[in-house]
Amino acid sequence: MIAFVFVSALILYRLLDTTARVLNIRALRTEVPAEFQSWYDPARYRKSQAYTRANTVLNLVSSWAGLIALLLFWFIGGFERLDAMVRGWHLGAVASGLCYFGLLAIAQEIFSLPFAIYHTFVLEQRFGFNRTSVATFVQDKLKELLLSVIVFGLLGWVVLSLFERFGSGAWIGAWLVTALGSLALMYFAPKVILPLFFKMKPIDPGALRDSLTDLCRRQQFPVRDLYVIDGSRRSAKANAFFTGFGSNKRIALFDTLIANHTVPELSAVLAHEIGHAKRGHVWKHLVAAQVSLFCFFWFASWFLTQPALFAAFGVGHPSYYVGLVLFTIFLQPLGILLGIVSCYFSRRHEFEADRFAAEAVGAAEPLISALKKLSKDNLANLTPHPLLVGLEFSHPPVLARIAALRSPPSLHRLQIPR
Ligand SMILES: [Zn+2]
Repeated sequence: MIAFVFVSALILYRLLDTTARVLNIRALRTEVPAEFQSWYDPARYRKSQAYTRANTVLNLVSSWAGLIALLLFWFIGGFERLDAMVRGWHLGAVASGLCYFGLLAIAQEIFSLPFAIYHTFVLEQRFGFNRTSVATFVQDKLKELLLSVIVFGLLGWVVLSLFERFGSGAWIGAWLVTALGSLALMYFAPKVILPLFFKMKPIDPGALRDSLTDLCRRQQFPVRDLYVIDGSRRSAKANAFFTGFGSNKRIALFDTLIANHTVPELSAVLAHEIGHAKRGHVWKHLVAAQVSLFCFFWFASWFLTQPALFAAFGVGHPSYYVGLVLFTIFLQPLGILLGIVSCYFSRRHEFEADRFAAEAVGAAEPLISALKKLSKDNLANLTPHPLLVGLEFSHPPVLARIAALRSPPSLHRLQIPR
């Protein structure tokens, strides 16, 4: 019964997602939207639609393949067989658990690797985005692997040790350790992790640096430094973000962004990022993540004591480590619902940050032209279907953002655009 409900939920969501993607493809129109008339020639617009189609096909193939692989693994008794093998090594509960996690993670990585290779070296290559060399790709994968082993190995070891020592009541300690670990990771990421993948250097003195520094000062937004990072080593796509928090905040603009945008546009992009912090999005996101983590461990403490749930996954020897893996899978349908809710709030936050940026730089136009350039350069889909937007877009469609930026602020406060 549990298994039936669970499988139905996952398949139903896949069908819904597939429907949304098919509708999305059918919503593609050959004529360029009025707002973008002077920005696209017909050939480039067709190219952006071909890019949306190619991405859709890859997404559908990989997501259905992932679901089928999970169900197959389950129905051939994979969770139990793997556990039997690991138990046969007589390593003790914690070490067995780490091996169990590790082997599943390796299997997952092997499964997703062909899709990642296809995405980077075939799809992105065909549309002129890829700048990743094979050497960089391999190095990135190895670094990710090493980081995962250190971070998840350490975390898994502490969490499993707590459960082995204190039973299912250890959930609150497990949550506390995970929460503190994720905060520490966020704090140190800009200093320790980001430099493993990107070269960062402070933005050269000049008009851009002066303008951005001035903006931060006017907005009373203390940053450690303004960096440019070499995104161009991997992709032609442009981006900007800020990482870290407290006194460790860093703003990073991709070199690809700086190359294609004017100083007022870049200021508007930075103002948008500052808006996320000033409007409390960063903290809201952080609190939401910790609350869901809290619920995860709390609910897990119940799951771990239900042999019937283990049996539903074909597992005959309940243990904390197998339980945690099964519980993560068991939560997938709930995770999908939470994802929809979180995307909804994320889209609202984007509108708020846009509005903040327009007010901070005193005009909406620089951000509008930056958004247009980014959409055009990244071959973004200008007319995504509302169902797909609702299901999984963390950012509103660009035309909706432009319309909101053009609407008078007073009106904007009265009605929050969807
Ligand atoms: Zn944003």
